[in-house]
Amino acid sequence: MTSSLPPARPLIDRYGRHISYLRISVTDRCDFRCVYCMAEDMTFLPKREVLSFEEIESIAGAFIDRGATRIRLTGGEPLVRRDIMDLVRTLGSRIGQGLDELTLTTNGSQLAKHAAGLAEAGVKRINVSLDTLDEARFAAITRRGRLGDVLAGIAAAQAEGLAIKINMVAMAGVNDDEIEPMMAWAHGRDMGLTLIEGMPLGEVGIDRVDSYLPLRQLHDQLARRYTLEKLDKKTGGPARYVHVAETGGVLGFITPMSHNFCESCNRVRLTATGQLFMCLGQDDQVNLRDALRDGGGPALDAALDQAMLLKPKGHDFVLDRSMTTPAVTRHMSVTGG
Ligand code: SAM
Ligand code: SF4
Repeated sequence: MTSSLPPARPLIDRYGRHISYLRISVTDRCDFRCVYCMAEDMTFLPKREVLSFEEIESIAGAFIDRGATRIRLTGGEPLVRRDIMDLVRTLGSRIGQGLDELTLTTNGSQLAKHAAGLAEAGVKRINVSLDTLDEARFAAITRRGRLGDVLAGIAAAQAEGLAIKINMVAMAGVNDDEIEPMMAWAHGRDMGLTLIEGMPLGEVGIDRVDSYLPLRQLHDQLARRYTLEKLDKKTGGPARYVHVAETGGVLGFITPMSHNFCESCNRVRLTATGQLFMCLGQDDQVNLRDALRDGGGPALDAALDQAMLLKPKGHDFVLDRSMTTPAVTRHMSVTGG
């Protein structure tokens, strides 16, 4: 469903890109410590700095009023935030009232518990991150997760009718031997599979250069073994999709490192403390929490105008041997993946 009236002042940046997609990190905390995402010992934000649900709702409302039609909840792990389903229900009530879609990206550990609530709140699609189907490897990558919990969560979500896309960070020498088995597994269960290139976000204590797997190259290898039919699925995001004739499923490639996708970017990201980042790979930001706390709705609106002026043309990630520090010091769990 699309909202009937166009917004009074749509969010359009200096490059003419229409911002219609808001990703909200509801917490920087997580019950996993995936090796590419977090360090073993992370210091999380003090809870008092984190936006309340009322504040998140006000900010989300301001975006919807100005033409944002899609919201994704992420983190950290969104389902570990206490009473998260209260927020899901409130935002879900805006579906059809300006909002077209509410989605979620989760590690799946708490999904079995929340699948029914998500479906009831109007969520139709979720992304579940899963990098391996091998129990020991899963424990090693996530440092503290249990594969069985995630598989149970996926089964529960499917039983509730939620469409699922599996996100897999493809890592050379870590899980690249599982790409084809994961594709067969996901497609055989009516789920899409999207492969992600590891990005240099935050210090995590592993060598990202060694495990970096260029997905363009992988695409060409797969194209020799499978019939990959390019899909013209425009998400405004970094993923490119193909239909795999042999498996009947959709395979996505998120290639921020080997392909720059910024010209069609339609999204911004709100951190758990209310900083609005205009780009995952740049530091430009606007403090929406202070705007809201100090000046209410009008100040928030003005801050959104400022954000449109600040959205950069693109990121410029590079990964090479000369790079000793991450491109961006924020972890993905802070900006919201
Ligand atoms: N905890 C949830 C999850 O894992 O799905 C949501 C947040 S997580 C930060 C979102 C996505 O970012 C996951 O699919 C994860 O694999 C991916 N991710 C985290 N750090 C990354 C990095 N440095 N490079 C590429 N993808 C990353
Ligand atoms: Fe947690 Fe998701 Fe980061 Fe893994 S990728 S540590 S599950 S936030």
